[in-house]
Amino acid sequence: MRGLLIGRFQPFHLGHMYVIERIAEEVDEIVIAIGSAQKSHTLENPFTAGERLMMIFKSLQQNNVRRTWYVIPVNDIDNNSLWVSHIRSLTPPFHRVYSGNPLVKRLFREAGKDVATPPLYNRKEYSGSEIRRRMLAGEPWEELVPEAVVEVVREVDGVRRLRELAESDRA
Ligand code: NAD
Repeated sequence: MRGLLIGRFQPFHLGHMYVIERIAEEVDEIVIAIGSAQKSHTLENPFTAGERLMMIFKSLQQNNVRRTWYVIPVNDIDNNSLWVSHIRSLTPPFHRVYSGNPLVKRLFREAGKDVATPPLYNRKEYSGSEIRRRMLAGEPWEELVPEAVVEVVREVDGVRRLRELAESDRA
């Protein structure tokens, strides 16, 4: 049995890690699709698909997830009704989709897929927007992500990138 988790992972955080650990209790193999793969270097989407892939790969290795996993970047397409086929064309076959995102759940259900909603884990703090807000504000964010993500963000100078993106070129 193979399960699919799709997310933007901007950045990958402990809420995502928790969901993956729950999924690993139910399936033999986990397909992780990195959505909006084409987006990077914006305030909402600061990290490239390759950087997010490193975050996920290293975090799963460090946390000893004892399942086979695949990490696949997927670009957005400008057509929601074709999106499930787009995902299926790029991923190994999967039997169940795990998502808390209403649009994602709706699209997969309409396509006849089995959809499960994992319980939320401290969503107020374990949230990409809260982590990006803290990075910009100079507040501690490291406790909200796996250690491997701290290392990747450091390697790519991610906090400085985010701060520079927030600067205005107006006087
Ligand atoms: P996300 O990174 O916000 O979340 C990924 C998953 O983790 C979600 O299921 C979310 O519910 C879960 N999660 C997040 N924080 C959690 C926490 N604290 N505890 C438990 N679970 C938590 O990503 P997302 O917004 O769900 O990503 C959906 C992706 O699909 C986006 O890239 C979007 O662009 C893409 N998409 C594209 C199209 C299209 O191209 N037409 C259509 C639909 C969706």
